[in-house]
Amino acid sequence: MNSKRDTSFHIGILSAMPEEVGHTILNLKNVIKAQYGDLTIYSGEWFSSNYLNKPIFVTVAWSGWGKVSSSRAATRIISTIYNEKKIDFIIFTGVAGGIKKDLKQWDIVIPDELIQYDMDARPIFERFILPALNMDRIKTDPKILNWANKVVREKLDKKELPFYKNLYNGLIGTGDQFVAKKSSIDNLKTILPEIFAVEMEGGAVAQVAHQEKIPCLIVRVISDNADDEASLNFNEFLKLYQKYSWDLIKIFLDNLESKFLQL
Ligand code: SAH
Repeated sequence: MNSKRDTSFHIGILSAMPEEVGHTILNLKNVIKAQYGDLTIYSGEWFSSNYLNKPIFVTVAWSGWGKVSSSRAATRIISTIYNEKKIDFIIFTGVAGGIKKDLKQWDIVIPDELIQYDMDARPIFERFILPALNMDRIKTDPKILNWANKVVREKLDKKELPFYKNLYNGLIGTGDQFVAKKSSIDNLKTILPEIFAVEMEGGAVAQVAHQEKIPCLIVRVISDNADDEASLNFNEFLKLYQKYSWDLIKIFLDNLESKFLQL
């Protein structure tokens, strides 16, 4: 199917930490670097066995934690041109704290919606409303969500993704806070009962992509349960995750479909 591909893709891969980018850069050819202050952006070519010999252009960076750093890096990635090709699609991958009962380490959460739970411009706007957009939740494009679910599920079913467990869709909450207390979880559940997981960048990157009109996918792997043990579990998990983060990123790069990217 993909071997008939006659367009070039240029995909942006963003994470908060180098461990979340993992081996991605090592797997690219002809890598060039661009430096913007303290941010390094790497661009190169991924030769996937699925696309004969036509490479995918990939631009990768890690931003540091939080909404400001990730928004800044997302904007830099979206503005990167490689081999005269603009970015078609940005994917943010990284780890998150599970809030929904039964979520475990190595479960994958692909949000159908993201909310910046610490945005509060009351009384001018209702709680959570992003003033620039006059809306509170940023939805993942259903075409992208279905595609991402399909390609990940296929790999999980074939047991070709060691370590990774179950795939979920749900609401992800983004805020400038490492959630590591029962009282913080209880508070989040009170204000947003349907919340699945928390992290510190996804909602911001989704907002940038929305405003820049660039297709976007956020993918999170559960590293901890946002409770008193979160910090410990998180740090142990991250050491292992850095070996396997590329396996997840690769699924998306190997199964691109031009139809949802509207190329
Ligand atoms: N455990 C570290 C802090 C991790 S910061 C320490 O103690 O120093 C958290 C990073 O992982 C962010 O990039 C965020 O997106 C993600 N994350 C994972 N678990 C999280 C949680 N429980 N709350 C918020 N962000 C979390």
